[in-house]
Amino acid sequence: MKAICNIPLESIESVEVFVNQFRYSVDQVAAQAQAKRPDCKVYVVTGGMWNADGSACPLLKADGKWISPQPWSSYGYAWDTGPDITLTLDRDARDNFWSTTCLIGHNGPIAEPSYDKTGQGGKRGRAGMGMRPGYLRLYASQDGTADARTPEALRDDMAADGCTSFVMGDGGGSAQCWFDGQAIPGDGRKCHNYIIVYAKKEPAEAPPEKEDKPMSKPIVCLDPGHGPGCVNGSLDGSYKECEFTWDLYTRLRPLLEEQGITVVSTREIESDYPGLSARASVSNRAGADLFVSLHSNAAGSSARGFVAFTSAPPETAVRNKLAAAIIGRIRAAGVVIWGSGLAHELYTVLASTTAPAVLLEYGFHTNDQDVALLKDGSYRDKLAQATCAGICDYLGLEVKEPDGESGQPNEPDSWAKEAWSKAAAAGVFDGTRPRDALTRQEAAVVLNRLGLLEKGD
Ligand SMILES: [Zn+2]
Repeated sequence: MKAICNIPLESIESVEVFVNQFRYSVDQVAAQAQAKRPDCKVYVVTGGMWNADGSACPLLKADGKWISPQPWSSYGYAWDTGPDITLTLDRDARDNFWSTTCLIGHNGPIAEPSYDKTGQGGKRGRAGMGMRPGYLRLYASQDGTADARTPEALRDDMAADGCTSFVMGDGGGSAQCWFDGQAIPGDGRKCHNYIIVYAKKEPAEAPPEKEDKPMSKPIVCLDPGHGPGCVNGSLDGSYKECEFTWDLYTRLRPLLEEQGITVVSTREIESDYPGLSARASVSNRAGADLFVSLHSNAAGSSARGFVAFTSAPPETAVRNKLAAAIIGRIRAAGVVIWGSGLAHELYTVLASTTAPAVLLEYGFHTNDQDVALLKDGSYRDKLAQATCAGICDYLGLEVKEPDGESGQPNEPDSWAKEAWSKAAAAGVFDGTRPRDALTRQEAAVVLNRLGLLEKGD
């Protein structure tokens, strides 16, 4: 049994450190808070631990007053009113500060979170607070149930769920909450302190409801990386990353749309060069189901191949399942893979998007062999088709395989139908692969069939 809430930052009226001193149970604290602000939604979660003598144990500051300035220096949440809450080491920066054990910091999940193995370790009920882009997250799980977690497992759960920071509070029977009616009682004990969040009942800007979207039409946000003027490219200047990302986007978009996917783009015209946060906002505003950023990579001249980036492990996170689906199809298409094909980096577009997000580096523009491939139109088509198939795999859509070996429908467009049948009837073409590009040798054969190559006089 567990309870999780994500409170939009813009709906938060205030966040309060309530120094309970063991007087009230969590539901009594919630009832008092609700009576004080009947116009608000009330969320209560257990705060930090306490010492045997009843004093607050880790760092805790309420309304400008230190309740416990001891004993260690640790990342925690600081705020004056509430919507301004941030993760920081600077415990003096704001009127309120709360920290127990930081599990996800500014550089992502913390490999070895620092906590007291006897006092806090093992599988227990857990309480905590975190942030997702645009949201404050509160969490509590009931001690003694299947949702009891080790600190490390809690860290992985929260990271997989898109938290960009997370601090674990007290655990065991103290792990308690009351989230606008949803309760985790712990063992019913009256804790030393609780965090209370007051939020507006009707947020001014409600996030788009997933249920409002027709289920049959998933939304994919494509992000053609960079823009005009970006200098990324091959040393000899014959290849520009921004030209590649735009061209690949124009090949990938129609493929996705053919599969019944709605596509939004972070730039609708090639001359656009939006900032990174603006790109994430396009995805967030559209309520995209996933976000795919298109790039090519740079390193020493020997590095080559495809690699997908996501913000963080673990493998079970949806963003990494999305990446794995795309890597699988790219590998199957015979593309060289760099390393394992998957790497993690907290790029802004990956951290600020609410949808599962991947950033795809299709090759290294610092490697001659990769550059030759990246410049090739049919190679780009192959990349676009594999990416589309990977996205469909992830979305659970059956990839509609085009007819024939060409990888394209075996019918000409309606505007070309008449000319196509005439050409086939005249023996100029053999009547197959109407959508294929013409190679130079094929063009020569066509010209010869038309008798245009005979030297006349
Ligand atoms: Zn790039």
